[in-house]
Amino acid sequence: MADQKEYLKDPKLIETHYGEEYEHYYNAIVPPVFLNSLNVFPTIDDYYDSDKTDRNVYCYGRVQNPTVRILEDKIAALEHGERAFVFSSGMAAATTAVMSVCRTGSHIVCVRNVYGPLKTFLTQYCTEHFQMRITFVKGDTLEEFEEAVTDDTDLVVLESPSSIMMTLQDIRGVSAIAGTHQARVYIDNSYCTPVFQNPLDLGVDLVMHTMSKYIGGHSDIIGGVLVAKDKELIEKLSLMRELYGGILGPMEAWLGIRGIRTLEVRLRQHEKTAMAVAAYLEKHPQVKRVHYPGLSSFPQHDLMQKQQRGNCGLMSFEPDCSVEQAKRFCQSLSVFKIGVSWGGFESLVTMPFARASEEETAWLGGAQNLIRIHCGLEGEENLIADLEQAFAAL
Ligand SMILES: *Cc1c(COP(=O)(O)O)cnc(C)c1O
Repeated sequence: MADQKEYLKDPKLIETHYGEEYEHYYNAIVPPVFLNSLNVFPTIDDYYDSDKTDRNVYCYGRVQNPTVRILEDKIAALEHGERAFVFSSGMAAATTAVMSVCRTGSHIVCVRNVYGPLKTFLTQYCTEHFQMRITFVKGDTLEEFEEAVTDDTDLVVLESPSSIMMTLQDIRGVSAIAGTHQARVYIDNSYCTPVFQNPLDLGVDLVMHTMSKYIGGHSDIIGGVLVAKDKELIEKLSLMRELYGGILGPMEAWLGIRGIRTLEVRLRQHEKTAMAVAAYLEKHPQVKRVHYPGLSSFPQHDLMQKQQRGNCGLMSFEPDCSVEQAKRFCQSLSVFKIGVSWGGFESLVTMPFARASEEETAWLGGAQNLIRIHCGLEGEENLIADLEQAFAAL
């Protein structure tokens, strides 16, 4: 595999060829799904003497699997990390990250707009069972982090852009602040994918993705990933994944590899479509506000340009109507289907705050009639025509 180093220079070569060892499987261009739970050894001593952390030693499927490892090597390379670990869901990755870094009594600084179930894990599990203390920050100024992060802080949790309000954090700035207090920085990079943002290059310690979104890309798998550079952290994650037992299954890993082949071309298309849709919405008289970092009117557009190379198909907007009318708007769409999640081939619509309390909604900077859409691959004309007919029906 003399050319593997060459592949590392171009993400498109990583997506298509890097990490694959054709000669190990009859030169098939697509790796097999290694559906085995264990691997055998010629002698008892060979078993005991094998280095189980070696890239090429496979022993038991909860620890390592060849199909899984190809996917991990690709994601680690795309994220400029040393090692990636894939999990059975994004939440399995996120909770393993928290439990690998934190201990009883840890202080965590977390942005308010972070993924809801992770917030629930922190506030309802980590506080109750491990007496951790959580400080929430809005996250749009560095002063806020300077105040919140102290020598007691073990972990700073970011999500930039966040997936409902699309708010950003200054990743390099926050990482520098955390560094002066020896706190680790974790970021959910699912919105950008490694195509549009590489947080490890900006000083972050742990990058998380849900693979259920763009990495899978076809709405057919649930999975998650953590990527790190630091040796000590990698050893810890390796052990914690083995002990918590949340490794991704080989079939899902194989679908993840297939998703990654087209990650770059899909993301470029999602972005192009979303830019057209966001521009359309921004001009629409029945729309009060559009939240999309790609728009030059977006309040954090300058920061976006400093740390991202693009934006995906996800955005939200506030229509100029009541919650009930907004529901009817969603229900009169036909290309956009009503459903949670995003990042697949299909366009989706949801109202994340329709049943949230007014305080909660205000705390997150949202509105109860907020509509979130994911622009899929059905073509911008079809999406705009669909929105147009739904506005007409309002
Ligand atoms: C969906 C999602 C997750 C959780 O991932 P699962 O694979 O569903 O566990 C985490 N973060 C963001 C931003 C998400 O959208």
